[in-house]
Amino acid sequence: MKKLLLLSTFLFITLFATAIPDEGMWIPILIEKYNIKLMQEKGFKLTAEDIYSVNKASMKDAVVMFGGGCTGELISPEGLLITNHHCGYGTIQRLSSIEHNYLADGYWAMSRDQEIPSPGSFVTILKRMEDVTDKMFKGVTDGMDNEARQQLLNTNSEEIRKNAIEGTNYTARVTPFYMGNQYFLMVYETFNDIRFVGAPPEAIGKFGGETDNWVWPRHTGDFSVWRVYASKDNKPAAYSSDNVPYKPLYHFPISLKGVHEGDFTMIFGYPGSTSEYAPSYYIDMVKNYINPKRIAIQTAKIEIMEAAMNTDPLIRLQYSAKKFGIANGWKKSIGENQGLERMKTIEKKQEYEKRLTEWISADEGRKAKFGDLLPSYEKLYAQLRDYSLVNSFTSDAFFSSGAEAVGCARNMMTLAGLYETVPDEARISVVKSELLVGAKGFFKNYNPETDKKLFVSIMKLYGENLDPEWQAPEYIKIKNSCKGDFQVLADKLYPATIFADEAKFIAFVNAFNTGSVAKLQKDPIYRLAKSVSNFISENVRGGLNRISSEVQKLNPLYMTAQMEFEKDRIFYPDANSTLRVAYGSVKGYYSKDAIYFKHYTTLKGIIEKDNPEIFDYDVPDRLRQLYESRDYGRYTQDGEVPVCFIANNHTTGGNSGSPVLNAEGNLIGINFDRAWEGVASDLAFNPDQSRNISLDIRYALFIIDKFAGAGYLLKEMTIVE
Ligand code: ASP
Repeated sequence: MKKLLLLSTFLFITLFATAIPDEGMWIPILIEKYNIKLMQEKGFKLTAEDIYSVNKASMKDAVVMFGGGCTGELISPEGLLITNHHCGYGTIQRLSSIEHNYLADGYWAMSRDQEIPSPGSFVTILKRMEDVTDKMFKGVTDGMDNEARQQLLNTNSEEIRKNAIEGTNYTARVTPFYMGNQYFLMVYETFNDIRFVGAPPEAIGKFGGETDNWVWPRHTGDFSVWRVYASKDNKPAAYSSDNVPYKPLYHFPISLKGVHEGDFTMIFGYPGSTSEYAPSYYIDMVKNYINPKRIAIQTAKIEIMEAAMNTDPLIRLQYSAKKFGIANGWKKSIGENQGLERMKTIEKKQEYEKRLTEWISADEGRKAKFGDLLPSYEKLYAQLRDYSLVNSFTSDAFFSSGAEAVGCARNMMTLAGLYETVPDEARISVVKSELLVGAKGFFKNYNPETDKKLFVSIMKLYGENLDPEWQAPEYIKIKNSCKGDFQVLADKLYPATIFADEAKFIAFVNAFNTGSVAKLQKDPIYRLAKSVSNFISENVRGGLNRISSEVQKLNPLYMTAQMEFEKDRIFYPDANSTLRVAYGSVKGYYSKDAIYFKHYTTLKGIIEKDNPEIFDYDVPDRLRQLYESRDYGRYTQDGEVPVCFIANNHTTGGNSGSPVLNAEGNLIGINFDRAWEGVASDLAFNPDQSRNISLDIRYALFIIDKFAGAGYLLKEMTIVE
């Protein structure tokens, strides 16, 4: 009997454990406390100390934040680093010219001296983290008003930060978790001498383009390789030919053993931002107010850029990174909205809020503490909607690769502003040279005809999508004066403005003096830029900040309410660009009734998609030859070259480039995307369909070795066969 009881308890625990969805982005120093047992039950063979330690080299020493928005990992004792192609895309574009087009043709350094310095690139490594909640709340009392509380938090945070880095070359940040209920100190080391080692042509690195982005099955060889350099004593240093390859404390061994359904996987990286605990009002604002209008303007921008890119290789090079930046977010918003609809996220949140409200109402103490929360959110979000929409839509229209000349004109406002009082010559000369440097980058990627088309379309959409009370006065004026015919307007403005012509712009800046301000005022593009920019700062930003900060004030308490309401649940904190661990397993999924997606793709699928007529599916000859001759080397699974695989790890933007590790902690892939049906996981994770997409590391090695002939790089890696 006793035996039976024990057995049933065991069964219950096992069933219970497997029933827990693999949702969550966990804090490395809390893995021991909350996760390691479950991870080991799922197959993980190492310890929490192997993942994160300050006493010995651990996995965390091999993970970097790549350029502020992505993750990368060190894969050799000599600073070799791998991340996604799309994470290096902007940099590779910047390093390219029409003669040396590394996007189109790819690039591989065949020796160290061919590694290309990449000014502006940097990687950051976490040295340590610490729970500093008590230190942060030192002196904070319940009765304190919000301003005094915030001030004290800032003072405490500054002191913690300063103490943490004293006498070191590190930087530190104190970051709020659980909406400000807990604080962690992060100490980082940043390296600035990063060199480009190689990347496949975008016909591999971006294979499938926007059509396949956010979609499974996927065949994108999304990787690029870099090297971190340091001073001779292995410390961060500005670029110098004397620098040497950085020697990391740890680098990931690479497994060639393969990826099978059900295998344990772990992702270690820097997820950017999620809002899993936000109230239904927030989801409603994003889904029903902001996403639809932003999708409309982004669609127009993408179509115009794409059409222009198809006419000329120079325009393709100029607009690739800009278009990719827009299209990545655009398509995600579309998938997110569909997912929220399919999962009925708003309705489910409302149902949850109803139960939460009942629980709050059942106790006087809870009523006093939490009773106002949801009604206050409702009121605030009803106001926040317009401000948020106007702010982001206006930026989409004029300042984030929108009507580009208008964006360029806005930069001139600082210089003109310096002439409003007694001119400070030193400051003027700094601002002038900044403008000239900025202009060089801007005009390198600028095509006036394309911009004119963007202008015509955007001017129309701005008027159609924002109510007149939210439109900048100068916009209304010029719209009336041209009777809404923006084509005629553009034909008149573009030849006359200095902001669509590099030579005119440079001459104007160089000769800028007191009289130039009046001249600027006559330039309609400048007037529009100034009006839009002032409108946002005077009529939008104030309201936006005020209401957002009201919302922020409610958030910690709302998180507390949820945590007290669901006492037995272990909550993971929302992503906030700090290092996290996600774990799960390799897993296919049903995309629709009767449509099951297998967990991996192969080179065969690339050949099946091959279509020289379509830019995104034009397979390079060399890859086709390798396929035809079956020259696969050791990079195969069941006779084919594996390309990508999916798993149910919880990831988001910023996790791009993250190492995907197997049960032994060896690198099996590089995370780069999520599958369409689960794209809404930043707001609601769906265990049945949320899947992260990773490049199989064997495909990366196959491309480096067999396609590019840069197999010498593999010699410095630790390969586990
Ligand atoms: N593709 C995404 C990115 O660009 C990764 C993700 O959101 O899953 O960051």
